[in-house]
Amino acid sequence: MALSDGTPTLDRAGARPRALVDPFARAITYLRVSVTDRCDFRCVYCMSEHMTFLPKVDLLSLEELDRLCSAFIAKGVTKLRLTGGEPLVRRGIMTLVSSLSRHLASGALKELTLTTNGSQLEKFSAELKAHGVERINVSLDTLNADKFRDITRWGDLNKVLAGIDAAQAAGLQVKINAVALKGVNEDELASLVEWAHGRGMDLTVIEVMPLGDIEESRLDQYLPLSLVRARLAERYTLEDIDYQTGGPARYVRVKETGGRLGFITPMTHNFCESCNRVRITCTGTLFMCLGQEDAADLRTPLRASEGDQLIHSAIDEAITRKPKGHDFIIDRKHQRPAVSRHMSVTGG
Ligand code: SAM
Repeated sequence: MALSDGTPTLDRAGARPRALVDPFARAITYLRVSVTDRCDFRCVYCMSEHMTFLPKVDLLSLEELDRLCSAFIAKGVTKLRLTGGEPLVRRGIMTLVSSLSRHLASGALKELTLTTNGSQLEKFSAELKAHGVERINVSLDTLNADKFRDITRWGDLNKVLAGIDAAQAAGLQVKINAVALKGVNEDELASLVEWAHGRGMDLTVIEVMPLGDIEESRLDQYLPLSLVRARLAERYTLEDIDYQTGGPARYVRVKETGGRLGFITPMTHNFCESCNRVRITCTGTLFMCLGQEDAADLRTPLRASEGDQLIHSAIDEAITRKPKGHDFIIDRKHQRPAVSRHMSVTGG
């Protein structure tokens, strides 16, 4: 029978649920869960200013999200990241973090983490740590308050910085994620490196991806990281290191600061061959690839029965459709988004 506490369950033949291996022999061990599509920021590269959000009735309850996550854990997922929208604005989110932490205690889950814009970290850092979260990613593209406001439209840099202070004070390991934006923060990336490393935080830079319609042209935003890396290499000694966090970043150590710098290059260097992840949205839709439209509805099987057999079958079937990879292009001929949904739907 299926257990929603993540204990591997038995199928009809009495075997454990099948682990998740896709048609390209990639084991799926990493689940990213967008707990809400809403956010208290409106980053110009992520959302349009006037977004239409999902009606609240369409959302999975926290209990349903827990059940869905637990089904994936029963099928071999060992790393789970909560994201959004902004995960910390979902009402009652700590109830979900707290209940999922039982899978850390059981050893089924190796890591429970989240990606946040940092605006709520003053409030939640201590609780996150108490529930077994060890590392978090904070998205921060600039240390200039005016620029921060321009990028996020609604954000307050000081609040985010205070959130990062609170997270570090609570003992959370913080990694900073910065999207490289042409003409916006490209002159600031070296100072971001020094600031992050000076505070004992890794920094990862990310290429902007063509997801969802926004007001600006992607071509105006897109800054290839090959260029960023070449520029940083003029200033610092970048030593390749074999550091892995289970994500797509390739890391170097910056000799002068001693800190780690990651590059996530969905545009210039596709990393799909080692993809170990899938994503679910707050309505229970499973996306097998960030850059493709194909998806599977897990809400219907979730609600159709109290046991998890139907969910397990739906997950198995969806994984057989995991594509080889994405094919993002940003150039003059390709001005349309690769997929229609915004990053806030699937959470990066
Ligand atoms: N609100 C949380 C946050 O700010 O981290 C979690 C959700 S946010 C969608 C996750 C990450 O996606 C952030 O680091 C954000 O900068 C990044 N992001 C959003 N849209 C993007 C795009 N079109 N290309 C690349 N990164 C994007």
